[in-house]
Amino acid sequence: MTDLLLRGGRVLDANGERLADVAVADGRIVEVGTDLDPGGATVLDAAGCVVAPGLVDLHTHLREPGREEAETIETGSRAAALGGFTAVVAMPNTEPAIDSAGVVRQVVELGEAAGLCDVHPSGAITVGRAGEQLAPMAEMAALGVRLFTDDGRGVQNERLMRRALEYAAGLGVTLAQHCEVETLSAGGHMHEGSWSSRLGIPGIPAEAEELMVVRDIMLSRLTGGRIHFQHLSTAGSVELVRRAKAAGLAVTAEACPHHFTLTHAEVASYDPVFKVNPPLRTDVDVAAIKAGLADGTIDAIATDHAPHAQETKEAPFDEAPCGMLGLETALALALTELDLAIGQILALLSWQPAAIAGLADHGGPIVPGRPANLCVIDPEATWVVDPYRLASRSRNTPYAGRTLTGRVRHTVLRGTPVVIDAEAQR
Ligand SMILES: [Zn+2]
Repeated sequence: MTDLLLRGGRVLDANGERLADVAVADGRIVEVGTDLDPGGATVLDAAGCVVAPGLVDLHTHLREPGREEAETIETGSRAAALGGFTAVVAMPNTEPAIDSAGVVRQVVELGEAAGLCDVHPSGAITVGRAGEQLAPMAEMAALGVRLFTDDGRGVQNERLMRRALEYAAGLGVTLAQHCEVETLSAGGHMHEGSWSSRLGIPGIPAEAEELMVVRDIMLSRLTGGRIHFQHLSTAGSVELVRRAKAAGLAVTAEACPHHFTLTHAEVASYDPVFKVNPPLRTDVDVAAIKAGLADGTIDAIATDHAPHAQETKEAPFDEAPCGMLGLETALALALTELDLAIGQILALLSWQPAAIAGLADHGGPIVPGRPANLCVIDPEATWVVDPYRLASRSRNTPYAGRTLTGRVRHTVLRGTPVVIDAEAQR
């Protein structure tokens, strides 16, 4: 018996598009076809909408444990569900860091308790993300962790990174790198360029990112290990990854909405909401990120959702922490700002990131037997970003007041509607 029927949408997945109803029972898709009989099922209207595999975010900061005043796994999961995400990869820069089986278990349990989105912790590459000693990756991998990163920091030491790549290859997991050579970025608060000179704010050169991208491409070649580049922000990085892929190396990359929608000129307001790491770059970099998304150099759009409590973020620019919200605006920003077909945008937000993170239950084709992790998107709906109406516990969105096109109408997690008509159900 059908529990749930998504009626009359454009069903769009990696295999293409067709107009169909989607019937769900016991958490799985049971039938895809026209004019399906709902019986006693809950019917969600999808007319005029796209029915897609749920979105997958490779880069979410949920802040729990340790910084619950900024976000909790529950509030972040709610933001994710409202943004159309059925799975997020939680970054390990919590307090304590996710660098042991115990913290992995804690994050998984809190995610299951919230029940709004699958929360997959990433594990730290090094103990305490301190960059000195490899973390017990095997014990975390045994609990299902598939992505390891010291995000917030890059692994500075080449020898350690080489060993981590060799270790990861043996475990069948992927390393993700926050590319930042700290000896070059230290003391910087924005992109080093015309605006940093004009504003008198110390800069972070593009080379601080690009040097680590090129180093890790070389280490991937040396070890055969898989590497995923996080939040690429410069034209040079995009070109390096393009060449590495052309050479057949096992590299993938993500970019964030703020790096294809905003530039360093925003910092002229001195508003710390525009402070992020890697920093907002130039028009040329924005164009290169867009080109990389269009030609397949960049595999995924990731949010780098980074909530900060108002009292910490509203500090002078050089004292404020880095980061901005992303989960509830990512899809709409992509639909509004990228000149790509919706199928290409969904590839970047769903099945390609699902493949990188090794999440078999997400991003797959909408066919009978698959887990019913789905989102229903109204691609024409317009809405205005209001920081006080976001589900995140924090308010640090740089898009306040912006009108965006494209909205998530419903999100279904393992057959349960967790968002109906853009309202969270729990
Ligand atoms: Zn990062």
